[in-house]
Amino acid sequence: MPNTVLMLSKETIRTMKDYYKANLKDSTPPGAHFAAKSTTFSIAAYHSGKVLFQGKEAEKEAAKWGTEKNIVSTKKNVPKSSSPLPTGITTMSLIGTDEVGTGDYFGPITVVAAFVRQDQLELLKEYGVKDSKHLTDPIIIEIAKKLIKTIPYSLLTLPNEKYNERQAQGWTQGKIKAVLHNQAILHLLNKIEPEQPEGILIDQFAEKAIYYKHIRDQPSIVRENVFFSTKAEGIHLSVAAASIIARYAFLRAMDQLSDEAGFTLPKGAGAKVDLAAAKLIKKHGVDKLGHFVKVHFANTGKAKKLSL
Ligand code: MN
Repeated sequence: MPNTVLMLSKETIRTMKDYYKANLKDSTPPGAHFAAKSTTFSIAAYHSGKVLFQGKEAEKEAAKWGTEKNIVSTKKNVPKSSSPLPTGITTMSLIGTDEVGTGDYFGPITVVAAFVRQDQLELLKEYGVKDSKHLTDPIIIEIAKKLIKTIPYSLLTLPNEKYNERQAQGWTQGKIKAVLHNQAILHLLNKIEPEQPEGILIDQFAEKAIYYKHIRDQPSIVRENVFFSTKAEGIHLSVAAASIIARYAFLRAMDQLSDEAGFTLPKGAGAKVDLAAAKLIKKHGVDKLGHFVKVHFANTGKAKKLSL
């Protein structure tokens, strides 16, 4: 959230309190003289003379009371997309990438890069390709089976053993994802050679600069025409397709792991997951956990307690 902190005199703060009397909050934070709130900003004035302005119109509101010399700190709104997208990107021939499984305790991370040519966009719409968050798992499976026969793609599945190893080495999930996205793109570029996409669209999980920082030690790095956007499934069908194939692969991996466990492993990271993990520990021993789960999740501690 954008915010500005000003250092103001006691008189100014008193004038402000009167000015914002219609917006005053009943309760004030500790050490505050008053707090006010509207739909576009909130203000907290402290006895120290510091006044915090927050929200969409924080800067505008702060400008009413202070000048440059009063500013203690200021933070502007950061735009959602860190790189501007080229116009007409929606109808380009693109590689899109997305991942699944990062928030699930059980099961691997799956990352997919998918290439969708401009002349295939209509067909993919007919298949029902869209943001996978709006699709049920049975529909995703149905569409994915068609997609994998229609479009070139690269699927990477990171087994839990490998995930846990990387995590223990100090890799963040962001780094794990960035490395996998870069690899999936490289594989797919090789696969479709000599054809070249007009661009590559990554469903953004990290700012562009952070993404490249994560993969700076990789032997080969794709940089040309790479675009980042949040909610990229809604921008180009290649990302939606990648997301559907990744989800399909994740579901299949979960079926496989459930077979090995001897019972159905739940998705997500909620209370059901704790119980299933406790059952798994009792049945197969705690040493086997790393084959099925992302060990560093808080679920591990809860499951161990439950299994006692
Ligand atoms: Mn995504």
